[in-house]
Amino acid sequence: MGRISERVSSIAESATMAVDAKAKALRAAGRPVIGFGAGEPDFPTPDYIVEAAARACREPWTHKYTPAGGIPALREAIAGLHRVSPAQVAVTNGGKQGVYQAFATILDPGDEVLIPAPYWTTYPEAVRLAGGVPVPVTTDESTGYLVTAAQLEAARTPRTKVLLMCSPSNPTGAVYPRDALEEIGKWAAASDLLVVTDEIYQHLVYGDAEFHSLPAVVPELADRTLILNGVSKTYAMTGWRTGWMTGPADLIKAALNLQSHLTSNVCNVAQAAALAAVTGDLSAVAEMRRAFDRRRQTIVRLLNDIPGVVCPEPEGAFYVYPSVKGLLGRPLRGRRPATSAELAEVILDEAEVAVVPGEAFGTPGYLRFSYALSDADLTEGVTRIADLVRGSA
Ligand code: PLP
Repeated sequence: MGRISERVSSIAESATMAVDAKAKALRAAGRPVIGFGAGEPDFPTPDYIVEAAARACREPWTHKYTPAGGIPALREAIAGLHRVSPAQVAVTNGGKQGVYQAFATILDPGDEVLIPAPYWTTYPEAVRLAGGVPVPVTTDESTGYLVTAAQLEAARTPRTKVLLMCSPSNPTGAVYPRDALEEIGKWAAASDLLVVTDEIYQHLVYGDAEFHSLPAVVPELADRTLILNGVSKTYAMTGWRTGWMTGPADLIKAALNLQSHLTSNVCNVAQAAALAAVTGDLSAVAEMRRAFDRRRQTIVRLLNDIPGVVCPEPEGAFYVYPSVKGLLGRPLRGRRPATSAELAEVILDEAEVAVVPGEAFGTPGYLRFSYALSDADLTEGVTRIADLVRGSA
């Protein structure tokens, strides 16, 4: 009998957080590392949000326990955004807790969850922790990393209970067009599946791309869908740890029974800040979106200029996900990385640039770059990789 449970020992550390921690540690040790690892906006949290939190610190209610599902004003505000009742909202400790809680609420041992790959690294681990079985459905750059209903149907078995969707996507930045979502949503409803849809990047779409919420496109899904969202990415609030889950009242009630034993309420001060965020306007995110859009275009151009790299132009979030298969097996400063994981190591050691290998997202042969960093660092970081590849570094 091991000291650590089989369930927890099967979980790997979050690769994205590990890369980010390594980059920050090297920087703290004085190395000029440029980090493309973190999925966090480099902008400060807007002032009006910080002020709301400062005021809340001095209010007597914030030092007390509040309802596990969220303070009423925030629940109501989120319910208004989603046009549901407050009983259909659970305020969670970041979107990440929502991911875990969603799967813990709906999965029994052996239940299968279809997860389009490349996927955000947390999804399969959260499914496994909840006793479920993640079933990746792999896509690639040739289809813009979009999965089809036909591919999902081919992966469905009698044990399939849930479809996970994430648009705009981490790690690919892909945004599902309305008709593609409609086809997938109708298939999910006809297949009697539950759906978990992660909308955390909903406000970060570029060019002609539009965000569509799956249950809005396919209304018959509303009673079988949990929507995950949060303030981290939209309002530059990753450290405030406030997200939410909306869905049918019975599922939300069950999820909150769990949450009442797990974390109780999310930090009240953070909830007051989140309330200011979701009831304020979207001008701060519009400004961030303009900067992200500019960086998106720059990084796609710079990466595609590197021989052996193929980088599709993403339409959302703040990631690019180039194929680096053309670099594998080639000599780089006397080393010959055979996998994208080894390539990421060589890039960190030799160019002092941190990127996350595709292995973390279920598709080796790719690297994920977050472009939530300054324009100057972005250009310098990719130029270092280009120099390394061309042998001139
Ligand atoms: N969902 C996706 C797709 C993400 O990329 C992230 C963060 O990286 C989250 C959810 C969770 O974010 P948070 O826990 O900060 O709300």
